[in-house]
Amino acid sequence: MKRIFSALLALAIALSLAAAVAPVRAAGGKLVAITFDDGPGPYTNRLLDGLAQRGVKATFFMVGSNVARYPDTVARMYREGHQLANHSYDHSDFTGLSDSGVRSQISKTNDLLSKAAGKGSVYMVRAPYGSTNARVRSLVGAPLVYWSVDPQDWKYRNATTVKNAVVNNAHDGAIILLHDIHSTSVDGALAAIDVLQDKGYEFVTVAELFRRRGVTPENGESYSRCKPNGTDLGPVTSPSISSRAVDGKLEITLTAQPGAEIYYSLEDGNLNQESKRYTGPFTVSTPCTVWAVAAFNMNGSRSATVQETFTKPTAQAPTIQVTDGLLTLQTETTGANIYYTLDGTVAGLDSAVYTGPVALTPGTVITACAGGGEYLTSSQVQAVYSHLGNFFRDVFPGQWYYPDVDAAAAAGYMNGVGDGVFSPNKPVTRGQLVTLLYRFSGADPAAFGESPVADVKPTAYYAEAVAWAYAAGIVNGYENGKFLPDRPISRQELCKVFSAYLSSLGVEIAAAPGAADKYTDCGSISPWALPYVEAMTGLGLVQGDTTGVFRPAGTATRAQAAAMLNRLAALLESQDGLEPAEPEPTEPEPVQPTAPESTSTISN
Ligand code: ZN
Repeated sequence: MKRIFSALLALAIALSLAAAVAPVRAAGGKLVAITFDDGPGPYTNRLLDGLAQRGVKATFFMVGSNVARYPDTVARMYREGHQLANHSYDHSDFTGLSDSGVRSQISKTNDLLSKAAGKGSVYMVRAPYGSTNARVRSLVGAPLVYWSVDPQDWKYRNATTVKNAVVNNAHDGAIILLHDIHSTSVDGALAAIDVLQDKGYEFVTVAELFRRRGVTPENGESYSRCKPNGTDLGPVTSPSISSRAVDGKLEITLTAQPGAEIYYSLEDGNLNQESKRYTGPFTVSTPCTVWAVAAFNMNGSRSATVQETFTKPTAQAPTIQVTDGLLTLQTETTGANIYYTLDGTVAGLDSAVYTGPVALTPGTVITACAGGGEYLTSSQVQAVYSHLGNFFRDVFPGQWYYPDVDAAAAAGYMNGVGDGVFSPNKPVTRGQLVTLLYRFSGADPAAFGESPVADVKPTAYYAEAVAWAYAAGIVNGYENGKFLPDRPISRQELCKVFSAYLSSLGVEIAAAPGAADKYTDCGSISPWALPYVEAMTGLGLVQGDTTGVFRPAGTATRAQAAAMLNRLAALLESQDGLEPAEPEPTEPEPVQPTAPESTSTISN
C-alpha cells in the first residue's frame, strides 16, 4: 500500500512538472510531413475530405498549369490549413532551363498560388524530378524540399502497395512523397495515415515540421527530412478573443502565443496573408463577427480560425450630476440599469443599482456605468463631490492639484469651465490670468476705463481686467504695444505678473538672489525673469516639481494658477490688512479650446 502511495506521489510530481514546462514539450512526439506532388487533380478534393476527417495537414507541391485549372481546390487547401508549395509551372527539368526560364517557372506558379494565399506569401519549392544543381538552388529564392520516404506510387498504382510502403518506411521527422493525381495514391495515403496515427504519428505541414523542431529552413538550401532534436514547440494555438465596452463601442483584444502574428477580419473567415494584422486593441460597433487566426507563417504554420459574434448593443454611458450634495444618474439607454460605486472602485454588474437620488458626503468619488439585460456594459464615468463641496468631472483626490483646485474653487478664485469641468491641465492665457487676478483683487469695475491696447476689444471677457491690470501697473504688454491676450503665459511670465500684483498692493518683496539655484534648469530662466522667479520662489509662491525642475518657458496650467492663487491668499492673510477680497460669483471661465493637454507634473 505504501509503495503504491509513493508511486502515485511520484506520478503526481511528474505530472505537475510536465504541466510546468508545457510550452516546450519533451521530445517523443513523432512528427511526419506528408506531401503531394503534381496536382491539383480530379482526386484532390476526395483527398482533402479524407485529410479533414483525420485532422491531417499536408503540403501540396503544385504544378502551376494545374493550379490554374483547379483554383477552387487550391483555395480550399489553403482555407483548411494545408501548405501551398511550388513544383514549377509545367514540370520542366530546371537544370535544362535558362536562368530566366527557372525564375519564370517559379514566379508564374507563385502568382497563381497567391490568388488563394494572398500577396507576400512564401512558397517552398520542390524541383521536378528532384533535379537541381547549384545554379538552380541560387535561382529559386526559397527552401528546396525533397523527401526521405518514396513509395514510388506513380509506378505501382496500387493502394495497398502504396500504403505498405509508406507505413514500413515512415520515421520520426520524415517527409513522405506522394502524387494526388493518382486515385490509388489518394486511397493508399489515407490508409497509411490511419495506421501511422494509431502508432502515434502526428501529421503536420513541412513548415510546421521545421518550426516545431526550432529549425528555420533557408532559401537555396535543400531539405529531405527534419530529424528529432529534442525540441517540440507544439502546435500553433488559436488566438483568444476578448472584449469590453468602451464609449458605446466594443473594444476587441486578441491574444496569441509569443512569436505568433494574429490576422483578423470583420468581414469573413477567409483569412490570408493580406488580411489585417493585429497590432493592438481595436473598437467595433455591434452587432459584428470577428474572425482571427494566429500564425508563424500563414501558409502552413497557423492555428485554426476562431470566430466570435457580438450581438448585444452597448448601453450609453450614464451622466453624473451632483446638486447640493444630491447625486442623480441618468442613461439614455431605455431598459439598461445604472450601476455605481461611491468608493472610487470600478462599477460593474455587481455594484449597487441606481434607483433614485443619493445623498452624498463631501469627498466622495462617484463611478458609474450602464448595462445589464440586453446590453453590453458601457464605459465607466467618474466624478467627485469634493471635500469642500465642489462638483468636478476632471479633478480627483490623489492628483497633486486636487486640494488646490478644490480650495480655489471653494474660495471663488476660479470656477470650472462649466458643468463640473475644470480643465486643470489646459494652459492659462495672458487674458485669463489677469482676469483671475482681477477677480481675486475684488477691484471695483467702475474705476477703470477702456483697455489701452489695440488687441483687446471692449467686448472681450477680459477687457475690464486688462484695463485694471494696465492701470495698476501689473502688465505692460509687448514691445509692439499689444497685449496678446490669447497667448499662453509661461511660468516665468507668471512670476513677473504675480510680483507686479504684489507690488501694486504695496507688499514689499524682498530680493532673493540665488533662490532659484535649487532648480536643475535654473540656467534656462531668462535674465529678465530671474529676479521675479527668485522673489516668488523666496516667498514660496512657486516651487518647481518634485524632481527640482522649474520649466521657466513651460506653459502655466489652470491647476498651477489655482495653486498660486491659494498661496497668494495665504501670503496676503499673513500681511496686515491685505486680505484678499471675497470674490463675487462669476461666469465660467473660457479655456483655450484647442490647447494641448499638459502631462506635466509640475505642482507649481
Ligand atoms: Zn513532379
